[in-house]
Amino acid sequence: MRRPMVAGNWKMNGDKALVQQLLGHFKSNIRAENADVVIFAPYPFLYQAEELLSASGIEWGAQNFYIEASGAFTGEVSLGMLKEFGCKYALVGHSERRTLFGETDEMCAAKVKAALGAGVIPVLCVGETLEQRESGVTEDVVGQQVKAVLELVGAEGIGQSVIAYEPVWAIGTGKTATPQQAQDVHAYIRKVVAEQNAEVAEKIQILYGGSVNASTAEELFAMTDIDGGLVGGASLKADDFVTICKAA
Ligand code: PGA
Repeated sequence: MRRPMVAGNWKMNGDKALVQQLLGHFKSNIRAENADVVIFAPYPFLYQAEELLSASGIEWGAQNFYIEASGAFTGEVSLGMLKEFGCKYALVGHSERRTLFGETDEMCAAKVKAALGAGVIPVLCVGETLEQRESGVTEDVVGQQVKAVLELVGAEGIGQSVIAYEPVWAIGTGKTATPQQAQDVHAYIRKVVAEQNAEVAEKIQILYGGSVNASTAEELFAMTDIDGGLVGGASLKADDFVTICKAA
């Protein structure tokens, strides 16, 4: 039995007041006993997350990081810094990072390796564009994104990570993959991992992301290979995110 996980990706949204309000609401209303719950906050709010979520059972993490430990990398943030603020998790290779900031499969693999080395759990995001889905190459694209990481860190490394399948065409669009469409890709990801190590494939948490909301979460999470969700827009809505956590 895999433990479900619901993660909120706030992206570049929020201010101090909203963070205070949302985290206060989550702390009072989410019992993270039966599922892992994680909030991916913008860097400046990680301090607030640590203050407000410590001992709540809810974890927090960063949306990005740089692979070097320290040095002349103006504007970057290291994994050691994230750990100082209690981050247990970090996103890697979100489609917005891949598309807008040029992150390649190789860079994502290096980031997974760096996170594992630093003791931060990477949540590796993979997913195809609409054009790729329509031309029938979803499995090739997603498979390659996973294999690039497997090649560098092996099944053992992937086994200490979380994978999030996020079809790019469903992110922020209000279009959710159907539970069956998502299930098919999740099962394929598990198969790719199983080719290296069946036990790891059986254990790894694979989340679905892409317009998950309070009314779609339950049927998505009911699918065999969907272990929870990576939630963008709805994680900024206090009651909706609580409902989604309860569905896991
Ligand atoms: P969305 O974002 O739920 O707003 O589609 C998901 C994500 O980008 O992680």
